[in-house]
Amino acid sequence: MENQGKKMLESAQSLIIKTGKKLGLDNQLIKRLIEPEMVHEFNFPVKMDNGEIKLFKGFRIQHNSALGPYKGGIRFHPQVNREESQALATLMSIKCSVAGLPYGGGKGGVVLNPKELSEDELERLSRKYVDQIAAFIGENIDVPAPDVNTNPKIMAWMLDEYEKIIGRKSPATFTGKPIEKGGSLGRTEATGRGGVIILNALLSKLRKKSHSIAVQGFGNVGYYFAKIAAESGFKVVAVSDSRGGVLVKDGLDPQTTLKCKNEKGSVAGCYCRGSVCDLSFGQPISNEELLELPVDVLVPAALENVINEKNMKKIKAKIIIEMANGPLTEEAYEYLNEKGVIIVPDVLANSGGVTVSYLEWVQGKQGYWWTEEEVNQRLKDSLEKAFAGIWQKSQSKKISLKQAAFETAIERIVAAMR
Ligand code: NAD
Repeated sequence: MENQGKKMLESAQSLIIKTGKKLGLDNQLIKRLIEPEMVHEFNFPVKMDNGEIKLFKGFRIQHNSALGPYKGGIRFHPQVNREESQALATLMSIKCSVAGLPYGGGKGGVVLNPKELSEDELERLSRKYVDQIAAFIGENIDVPAPDVNTNPKIMAWMLDEYEKIIGRKSPATFTGKPIEKGGSLGRTEATGRGGVIILNALLSKLRKKSHSIAVQGFGNVGYYFAKIAAESGFKVVAVSDSRGGVLVKDGLDPQTTLKCKNEKGSVAGCYCRGSVCDLSFGQPISNEELLELPVDVLVPAALENVINEKNMKKIKAKIIIEMANGPLTEEAYEYLNEKGVIIVPDVLANSGGVTVSYLEWVQGKQGYWWTEEEVNQRLKDSLEKAFAGIWQKSQSKKISLKQAAFETAIERIVAAMR
């Protein structure tokens, strides 16, 4: 099978090299920016329910700590590998720096299919993983969080194991925890909410209003983006999930759509014509069609590389908000950017999640928790500031938002490394 992680790593590193050269950095400094500071790769045994002992491979990659402790999720997936973890850790260094957070980048993972494990097996595995990484994480060293197939419950197991090992409480060592274990209000919605904050900031720079939006992906990111955008007055005309999408020209209600998706298993069957449908005026569309709709704002919020050389010429939206990680290939980004499409890069657009993780960390360290309104206000202030700086750079240097984001991130990291 093709190693997507290797491609992702090459692409992240080539962007850093390109940006480093543009900024006039010397080769040794560029090398320090692309090479991870530490790579932990280990194999660890876990007892299965049937008594069998199975060996699992795990990673924790600590990319750069110039700005602060390493920060990044832990992924449970069959395709986890060294290159993918390193690429994601590298991009976390960039994202945290873009967002103005006092963190470096890290990422972890275990090669496994969580669907093949019982809940008890998953708990034992999560605890064993922490036994392996406990010596080199900590609230001022490396702060893990959930990622693909890991969640607040898994963070609670991991924190519990970590605290047993160190013999004291340390809630700020993990973020993305359940509220009752020191999680932050507003974390669940934060990535989607952050995307809408960035979109509003962009529209106010462009002095534009009233926009139709299509959102690909209706999971944590896509759903909250659609919901908060609709609440803020945008017309969400299309959404989709892995089984297809739906187009409602007059605008749909994301909350009703979620209820319907939960009943029917997909948004695709939610709006249709005829007596079998609950809601009218909608039509089913494919995920490919959704991307090519003549909407003002396109929001890919599901998978990587969905806009690529095959469909880039058919994209009609004038604004793209990259809510998924890497939804546009480099080639598609360059092509659409050349055509004048404004593309807010993932490292800025979806940084609301890590920003509220940072707010959770701050609350955990001070032992004082904010209301949801306070968290949301801090998120807004933080992202508006991050956006304004990158917008300003992209305008003054006449470069893309992505280039401006990478330059900003690298300048900050280098200033802290010197
Ligand atoms: P999720 O698992 O909650 O949702 C993913 C959604 O994508 C689901 O609706 C799923 O049906 C849909 N999907 C899967 N395959 C698809 C396909 N082939 N076509 C269309 N839709 C498809 O995941 P999420 O947390 O919403 O993350 C989505 C993206 O955002 C990922 O790239 C993730 O890395 C990125 N991201 C997430 C966060 C976060 O806080 N959750 C933060 C930053 C970036």
